[in-house]
Amino acid sequence: MPQIIDGKAISAQIKDEVKEQVAALSEQGKKVCLAVIQVGNDPASSVYVGNKKKACAYVGIESLAYELAEETTQEELLSLIGELNAKNEVNGILVQLPLPKHIDEDAVIRAIAPKKDVDGFHPQSVGALCIGQPGFVSCTPAGIIQLLKRSGIEIAGKECVVVGRSNIVGKPMALLLLRENGTVTVAHSRTRNLKEVTKRADILVVAVGKPRMITRDYVKEGAVVIDVGIHRNENNKLCGDVDYEDVAPVCSAITPVPGGVGPMTIAMLMYNCANAGEGNGL
Ligand code: NDP
Repeated sequence: MPQIIDGKAISAQIKDEVKEQVAALSEQGKKVCLAVIQVGNDPASSVYVGNKKKACAYVGIESLAYELAEETTQEELLSLIGELNAKNEVNGILVQLPLPKHIDEDAVIRAIAPKKDVDGFHPQSVGALCIGQPGFVSCTPAGIIQLLKRSGIEIAGKECVVVGRSNIVGKPMALLLLRENGTVTVAHSRTRNLKEVTKRADILVVAVGKPRMITRDYVKEGAVVIDVGIHRNENNKLCGDVDYEDVAPVCSAITPVPGGVGPMTIAMLMYNCANAGEGNGL
């Protein structure tokens, strides 16, 4: 049987480390504060925002919640971000995505001061990651690196294949694996012979957003499989982009859904916030 990579346990460990870091900062008289902005009341977003507030409370980070009406204008949102950028006591700013259609997400992301960009979505943060300079890293891929490292899985020299090239998962994932000295291939919807490409992987990261698309015929015997996807199946149970039952017997290690990558995202957000509190942003 493969090693089941336990995202619940590893994320709890990281949150406890962050809690200690935040307590040490507090002893030096430094408080850590995250501003969370939600526009509208999309139920999924409300759940994510609620979980972020809970995690902040656990690690000792103050959270300021801004719940704005659906009809908030882009100008109003940008003006709030401007105010929060200027407030010394606010270390991190997070705007819950997706935003209502009348607001330009890119403009909003660009408005956040890079030193407060705890989601790691600002072009300056992404550029810094690309050229190996310090900056905040997108939480989900950063969490995957932690899952691998803390499960004793070596990345250097390995064939790493990332399926998916989104700005928040696939692309930063590829850059992080490269930073860890993996040999990286990025596959996407236009990739030819996807199975041949994925079968080269020692480490296969799947972020395609298609329920249970990756079956065992995409996976090399003994590979490590990381499943980023989150979906509800026909029985309303959570499942990933990987067909877990089919793939688990052929791989050496695998993340389950739920309890794999999912819990890492918030843990790494807390990690980024504590570092923002240390003044370690860009
Ligand atoms: P996107 O929809 O933004 O990107 C999907 C990527 O997969 C695209 O690059 C697309 O290619 C590629 N793709 C789609 N179909 C295929 C295919 N048949 N073959 C090969 N590549 C394909 O998704 P995200 O990156 O935002 O998210 C991916 C999954 O991860 C989703 O299930 C999402 O819910 C989940 N997620 C989970 C998080 C967590 O905390 N665990 C956080 C973020 C996301 P192309 O670019 O060519 O269109």
